[in-house]
Amino acid sequence: AISQGIAIGRAFVFRKAGSYTGNITGNCKTEISVETDKFSKAVENAAAELRTLVNTPEANLTSEEKSILETQIEFISDEQLRIDVEAKIISCNIPASEAVKIAISEMSEMFLATNDNYLIARISDLRDAGDRITGYLLNRNTNRINVTAENTVLIAEEITPVEAMSIDYRLVSGIVTMKGDKTSHASIIIRSKGIPSVSRFEENIMSVNNNETVIVDGTSGDIIISPDEETLNIYGNKKKEYDAEAEYLKSLRSKPAITTDGRKIHLLANISCSEEIEFMVKNGGEGVGLLRTELFFMAQNEFPSEEKQYGFYVQAAIAAGKKPVSIRTLDIGGDKQLPYFPIPPEDNPFLGYRAIRISLDRKEIFTTQIRALLRASAYGNIRILLPMISNIDEIREARAIISKARADLSQSGISFNNSIETGIMIEVPSAAIMTDILANEADFFSIGTNDLIQYSMAADRMNSKVAPLYDHFNPGFLRLLETSISQAHKCNKPVGVCGEMAADPVAAQLLIGMGIDELSVAPAMLPVIKNITLHANYRRAKEICGKVLQIDSSNCIREFLKKELI
Ligand code: PEP
Ligand code: MG
Repeated sequence: AISQGIAIGRAFVFRKAGSYTGNITGNCKTEISVETDKFSKAVENAAAELRTLVNTPEANLTSEEKSILETQIEFISDEQLRIDVEAKIISCNIPASEAVKIAISEMSEMFLATNDNYLIARISDLRDAGDRITGYLLNRNTNRINVTAENTVLIAEEITPVEAMSIDYRLVSGIVTMKGDKTSHASIIIRSKGIPSVSRFEENIMSVNNNETVIVDGTSGDIIISPDEETLNIYGNKKKEYDAEAEYLKSLRSKPAITTDGRKIHLLANISCSEEIEFMVKNGGEGVGLLRTELFFMAQNEFPSEEKQYGFYVQAAIAAGKKPVSIRTLDIGGDKQLPYFPIPPEDNPFLGYRAIRISLDRKEIFTTQIRALLRASAYGNIRILLPMISNIDEIREARAIISKARADLSQSGISFNNSIETGIMIEVPSAAIMTDILANEADFFSIGTNDLIQYSMAADRMNSKVAPLYDHFNPGFLRLLETSISQAHKCNKPVGVCGEMAADPVAAQLLIGMGIDELSVAPAMLPVIKNITLHANYRRAKEICGKVLQIDSSNCIREFLKKELI
């Protein structure tokens, strides 16, 4: 399931001419200099076309769409791509269009081989760039999906970001693709348009006939082709219910998230790129509770320079306007690796060389990130968030580096927000149990329940064999959580939760009862949690929480909450 909702419409199967799934034909004799010149010209034209689009006010592009186009321009003008293509023209004696196809296919395979979801999601951007260049080489425009009939369910092998932007969303009610990923730019665009979408089908959906009736259930991930009358009725009713609920949630967007007895909860979003900020704002988010910078790092070929990071953070700061953006410093290790920074194998990577531990060991990497963050803080409301803190020395050491970076910037006359705050993630039980002590060095707290559960339960979050232990309703874990939140408050420090627990409607009510100040969830979940907050009663949730903390097992807690909460 890529994008929630239900669509019932008529199929339109989009087949791309000359896409990268086709066979690559080679070995036709070519004039080398003619082909390399043609390639340079095509790159120039393709980049210029996109640049013009970005700078045309009438195109009415959102900043998210502009930034996707800018990524496209970067891919098109990539120096490595030029070197690869020219080498292929010269050594294989093939036309530029074939050389581009091979070079893009090889680069895609390299991205795929990293097993890194972020890079894999960028493959469609890469192919999009390749299609645009070949479009110029072969004099054809490949990046438009022309839908003409209303209520169309668009079916495609894959949709690239530029294609996603070309779709007339007034006519398309659902989208089904064979390849796709929740985190790809195309998926982000489709979600932001609120179009139900499903992806990654084992069967060949490209064999569907145009105009056949198709049901897309973007919530369950199902599609039904040529449904019978009864199924149509069932889904017709489901659609009505879903649309009514979505309409209702939409109406809550501008309402402040306040419980029925007047307690304000700050609803923020977890994101990994600035393009998601617009979606966050549209969904009523009040800021970014967690920007995971490691995904940006994972998309690079080497450690990004201070300038490159600065650009990325400034983009986020500007996109958020005055809203706060908590930018977490590099959290690699565990399951997150950088292709250019191999971490030697460890027996227990989640208990090993991770996050702040790497930053404090490799101070030059951390300092570069901090300088970029500080410089970007002049453009918005950036907050620094340190991951995986387990003792006070780590915060002191990190703060010393931050202070030094501030002093250096001041000395060089470079501006930054002088009152920038530094908070910490509470993800390790030792930090949770001494939140009051850590409050001496931290301006705010963000509880990362994803890790805090795994460390308090000694149950690897990635290991399905121990999944039943990985439970946010475990009484021991809940007591730890409550301790951390109440200690933060005793020290007058704000505390939020940014782990997945905050997006569970029942758990969110329990967190409100514990007195949480902020809930940070995936942008798509903001309206759901807003609705929960608006219907929750803080005093009652607090009473329920008191009772929950006396119950002895997760199952009994779950049963109790089912009876007591909405
Ligand atoms: C967490 O641990 O809850 C968290 C938000 O961080 P991540 O999921 O990125 O480890
Ligand atoms: Mg974590």
